[in-house]
Amino acid sequence: MTYFMCLQCGVQFTESELPPEHCPICEDERQYVRWEGQAWTTFDDLARTHILVVRDDTGVLAFGIEPRFAIGQRALLAETPDGNVLWDCVSLISDEAVAEIKRRGGLQAIAISHCHYYSAMIEWSEAFGGIPIHIHVDDRQWVMRPHPSVAFWEGETLPLNPSLTLIRCGGHFAGGQVLHWKREGASAILSGDILQVVPTRRHLSFMYSYPNQIPLNARSVQRIAAAVEPFDYDNIYGAWWGSNVIGGAREAMRISVDRYLAAIA
Ligand SMILES: [Zn+2]
Ligand SMILES: [Zn+2]
Repeated sequence: MTYFMCLQCGVQFTESELPPEHCPICEDERQYVRWEGQAWTTFDDLARTHILVVRDDTGVLAFGIEPRFAIGQRALLAETPDGNVLWDCVSLISDEAVAEIKRRGGLQAIAISHCHYYSAMIEWSEAFGGIPIHIHVDDRQWVMRPHPSVAFWEGETLPLNPSLTLIRCGGHFAGGQVLHWKREGASAILSGDILQVVPTRRHLSFMYSYPNQIPLNARSVQRIAAAVEPFDYDNIYGAWWGSNVIGGAREAMRISVDRYLAAIA
């Protein structure tokens, strides 16, 4: 039995003898099946050709895969005096990454913006003794490897510790969530592509599908704006390496929402 992993989105599936016939995440209208057809790999095969890199991304420890794999996911370590949380996830894990995180106080939980980052989340949870993986219940159908560590939550916000709060925004996915990080110096929102940092790194965009360029409607964007409005933050860490709004992010968010709503009006 093998835990097959989709080559296109990097999500690990529940164990099976043969590769699954479909990847529902890639067949969904928000993603796409690779042009050469659905294909699979495994954690061990991936580890033979790719490495997990661990390095700083603008003041936050980050994890990514080289050469680029799947969607190009990168994960972030939200470090707080009350415990650390891995934000989003990638399809590989290494002894070096685990050792570095343990050196910084370990990991109390994993939280993931939406299914394009589920990747090898169970492997990461197990490497830290089966810590919970917080996913909004509205995205339950996208979990391809069900596991007791997956902790579905309901509602609009979930405090993980005194410094970290999950905020359900919806939009790109119904259960799409971001993580607010009350941080000494400059608080942040870790957003994945629920709030998408665009190349100016001074603006955000809000799409239902990024690869297929399907915009969100006004009501969904207003709802996202309202969800993050009560929180103070200076920075937004987006979905990719260096894709971050550093300084003035709250104002950038306000301007971006207005700009977006004007564009689709
Ligand atoms: Zn897939
Ligand atoms: Zn996505």
